[in-house]
Amino acid sequence: MISFYPGPSRVHDDIPRWTAEAARKGILSMNHRSPEFMKLVEETVSLLRKKLRVPKSYTVFFVSSATECWEIIAQSLIREGSTHVYNGAFGEKWFSYTKRLRPATQGIVFDMQEALPKELLTHTLPELICITQNETSNGTAVAPAIISALQKKYHEALIAVDATSSMAGIDLDFSKADIWFASVQKCFGLPAGLALLICSPRSLEHARQLNERLHYNSLTFMAEMMSRWQTTHTPNVLGIYLLNKALAAMKSIRDIDKETTLRARAWFAFLKAHTSLQPLIRKSTVRSKTVITLEGDPAFIQKLKHLALKRGLLLGDGYGEYKQNTIRIANFPAITNQEIDRLKRFLKVF
Ligand SMILES: *Cc1c(COP(=O)(O)O)cnc(C)c1O
Repeated sequence: MISFYPGPSRVHDDIPRWTAEAARKGILSMNHRSPEFMKLVEETVSLLRKKLRVPKSYTVFFVSSATECWEIIAQSLIREGSTHVYNGAFGEKWFSYTKRLRPATQGIVFDMQEALPKELLTHTLPELICITQNETSNGTAVAPAIISALQKKYHEALIAVDATSSMAGIDLDFSKADIWFASVQKCFGLPAGLALLICSPRSLEHARQLNERLHYNSLTFMAEMMSRWQTTHTPNVLGIYLLNKALAAMKSIRDIDKETTLRARAWFAFLKAHTSLQPLIRKSTVRSKTVITLEGDPAFIQKLKHLALKRGLLLGDGYGEYKQNTIRIANFPAITNQEIDRLKRFLKVF
């Protein structure tokens, strides 16, 4: 079965080999206070800087999920409330989780067929702006220029970016925001249970000022532990090991970005000629390159998914309100060109 699901998604072919290697090397029972663990963490962070171009001054944290990042941000980086600008289900979830913890949090919804507005209609100056860079539910993406424009306009505010389904698939300029996060079961092509939270010096200084110390994952505690390459709890050591291996084997993010862009372009060119499927998102400037969302007649979509399964092709279901009339296809680096060709040959017949 070839999975085109946009998360949990197809993992790298080398995962079984790396996992066996981890077992042989004693990684599976590695003590998380040992020098070996600290070395693994230090090396993995240095690989993240090298391969994904994470700035030297930014701190990387290992946590369990993107959802946990939403909670850490709400707990440790917001005084009153954050400002969420979103157009889909993941952005909305982030907003509603935060609203429960910080009632002054506000949500601004924008049209998924339009770009995220560069000016936000708020009553007060935003404290922390939350953006879902790649909205996995509908296949939209926020262009880097818009994040930059927001950063310029609201320079007093922190900007937090959910890049769960784009980090490691496209070249992100981390310096353009303060807080970035992603879990690894999407573009990284790794098993679930690990996420990265990447924080600017300014955001950590803000956390120190707020000094929220109520949780095991309060950012102040996490930062104290990470200064010694450690975590506040026993982390997913195997996950960190697999991430280390995947990063070491990975091309530079600039090359990966080029491939992702070419493959996305090829997908949309292919769809132009298709009679029963079209991109859900009409403007190419707001389309995601990593999650391709296709729209069709609901009965046709159901039939297509069913027939695809019989041919060993797992298509991603539509999400939330687009469950019936869309399918989602991951354009993640772990998926091979041969697999994409196979899926296109299958789709061509309809
Ligand atoms: C998948 C996803 C999440 C949730 O990730 P978890 O690791 O399950 O917490 C959050 N945001 C976006 C944009 C996602 O695609």
